[in-house]
Order: sequence, then structure tokens, then C-alpha cells
Amino acid sequence: MSDIEFRGISKTYPDGTRAVTDLDLRIESGSFTVFVGPSGCGKTTSMRMINRMIAPTSGNITIGGVDITTTDPVTLRLGIGYVIQSGGLLPHRTVLDNVATVPVLRGDSRKAARAAALEVLDRVGLDRALAQRYPAQLSGGQQQRVGVARALAADPPVLLMDEPFSAVDPVVRAELQTEMRRLQAELRKTIVFVTHDIDEAITLGDRLAVFGRGGVLQQYDPPQRVLAQPATDFVADFVGRDRGYRGLSFRSAADLTLHEIRTVVADEVANLRLEPREWVLVVDAADRPTGWIDATGVASVRAGRALAESTAAGGSLFTPSGDLRLAMDAAISSPSGIGVAVDDSGAVRGGVRAGDVVRILAEQRAAEDCARNRLAYEQGGTR
Ligand code: ADP
Ligand code: MG
Repeated sequence: MSDIEFRGISKTYPDGTRAVTDLDLRIESGSFTVFVGPSGCGKTTSMRMINRMIAPTSGNITIGGVDITTTDPVTLRLGIGYVIQSGGLLPHRTVLDNVATVPVLRGDSRKAARAAALEVLDRVGLDRALAQRYPAQLSGGQQQRVGVARALAADPPVLLMDEPFSAVDPVVRAELQTEMRRLQAELRKTIVFVTHDIDEAITLGDRLAVFGRGGVLQQYDPPQRVLAQPATDFVADFVGRDRGYRGLSFRSAADLTLHEIRTVVADEVANLRLEPREWVLVVDAADRPTGWIDATGVASVRAGRALAESTAAGGSLFTPSGDLRLAMDAAISSPSGIGVAVDDSGAVRGGVRAGDVVRILAEQRAAEDCARNRLAYEQGGTR
């Protein structure tokens, strides 16, 4: 087991900066813990004390019950993967050799290390064809995946990740986050992940450790609880006014009843007869949405303009297996006010309006209240 425990940890840098104050924290083996908070609140300092890159001023840290100061730092770090922003790759080594670094340091033969490295590349969703490239020949997202692959290559029980996705664009970042959740479901490492982005923290974490000024731990709870019951004013302020909206991401969209959506294929657009403010969803041959069209757009097509110029870009899409936040976003980002639900192949399943999402939210809450009351009643009855 690789529980990580901080006991009375403080860190004051030589210049007098108090980076971490009296930190007590137990990180459970196999959990995904996110250190989150504004910049300068001691997240990186706390993380780097785990692999002894920084020594605490007081207190001690154990991994699996063993005080880390009893293990020599090099040996300790071979058992702890470490991922930093933009991958931290060695520029003059190929992708394959970057990934094979730690197994080689650990004493594996170069051949065995490279074979293992290829397998890890598969695992993080990288094409083996990239193995012979140099880091500069990869996109930011690919470099980041190589960074994760390198950290995983020696199969360490603990993985430290410091703002690993902060330098990539939002779309790739979302992909990397999804990938990380999938990997963790497979691997069940003890992961400590640092970010200043509360959305990223909520998406990834089983538990959030919210850090405040002076490196004082403000709250250590599952994300739902941090959103619903911020422990301090600082946390309430940090999770922000959007927390109701963020809370939707913990609710299933499966309860939504999907309405039928009127769709049209490209060839038939010119024949449409639409009322003012009526919208029709344009789909391709596989029933995948390509945009919305109204009477003005149809007139534009009839006048000979390209369909792409005549349709309004669609809103975001959601899947019924996803969450209410995505469903709500789909509804409010859609020009028609109808959020489009698609199946795994991207084909249209139906639609919802924002009001439908609000209604389901109210129903789910009422059901939860009811369950809570019944529990309270039953517990009262047996006492
Ligand atoms: P975070 O990762 O939350 O942004 P850090 O742990 O990097 O925060 O830093 C916490 C505080 O310690 C900040 O005020 C930072 O300026 C300071 N700090 C970090 N490293 C050093 C250092 N080597 N010497 C002096 N102060 C430092
Ligand atoms: Mg930091």
C-alpha cells in the first residue's frame, strides 16, 4: 500500500517565505488527490516534499507507513513518477528513449526498457510511429502524453503531476483530462495532481486539498462537498459564483427525456418551409449534426449560397450517458435553444431545453431530500 501521510509539515524558505503551514494530510492509496488553490499557496512545495526534492522545515512524511527520510532520495524517486508542464522531456533523446529513461536507471537492459516503453506509449494513446521522433517534432498535447508515459514506464505506485496540462490549448487539455481518468481507472495509482484550475480539479479529483495563503490547508474533501459546502470563506470565494453550475457535472443526464428534433439532410434544405424563429437541425448521411438552419438560412441556400454559409454553427453536444452540466451547456449554446444529444457514433438521439435540465435537477433534489428524510425517520425509529 502506498498511502502518503503528511504530519505537521511546515516549510519556510531561507528568505523567510512561509510556503506551507502545519499540513496534516492523509492521501489514500489508489486515490486521485488534487492540490488546488491560487498561485503561490504552497502546492508545488508540498508536492515536492513527497519525493524529497524539497526538505520540510518541520514535520514528517510517510509513504506506506515508512518515513521517506529513511529511504535514499534516488531510490525513493525511482518509485515515484513525476510529470511537469510541457513534459520535461530531454530534447536530444527520442521519444522512445525518453520513456525508457527510468527503467534503464533502475537497471533494466536497454532492450527490455524499450519494449516496455512501447507498451506504455500504447497505454497513453500515442502511436508507436512517434517513438523515433524527438520531442520538438511533437505537438504540445503529444509531448504531454510522452511525459505521462515516461512517468508510468517503471510502473511506480505513486505519480506526482504538477500543472501538467496548463500549457496546452483547452480542447487538447480536455482530451488529456479524459485520458487521465481512463488511465487511473485502469492503473489505480496513488496520484497527487497540482492545479490552480478548479474545473480541472473537479474533473479529475476523487478528493481536493484546497490550499490558501501561507500554504494553509483550507479543506480536504471530495469535489461535490467542496462545491456544496465550502469549509471557509476563502474556499467559497475560490470555487466561485459558478459552483451551482459546476455542481451539475455530478448529476447524470440519463434521467432527461429527450424530445424529437426535426432534422434535414443537406440535399433537402432548399425544400424546407419554416415559420419565423423555427430551427431545423442539418445532419449528414450518418445523422450527425452539422449546424442549425432557419428561414433566413433556407432563403440564403435558395439564393445559391453555400449551405455552410447559411447554417448557424451548432451548440455543444452531449451524450445521455454524460452529465447535466454538458446537457445544460448544449442547450444554452445552441442557436435554437435546443441542446442536441448524440450517441457514441455522434448520431442525433434527441434534444433538451434548458428548462428540461432545470426540471430534472429539481426532481433529483426532491428525490434526495425524500431519501434523506426517510433515513432520518428510520434512524429515529430504531433509536
Ligand atoms: P504554488 O505551487 O501553490 O504556486 P509554491 O509552492 O511554488 O506555490 O510557492 C509557495 C510560496 O513559496 C510562494 O510564495 C513562492 O514564491 C515561495 N517559494 C517557492 N519556492 C521558493 C524558493 N526556492 N525560495 C523562496 N521562496 C520560494
Ligand atoms: Mg506550483
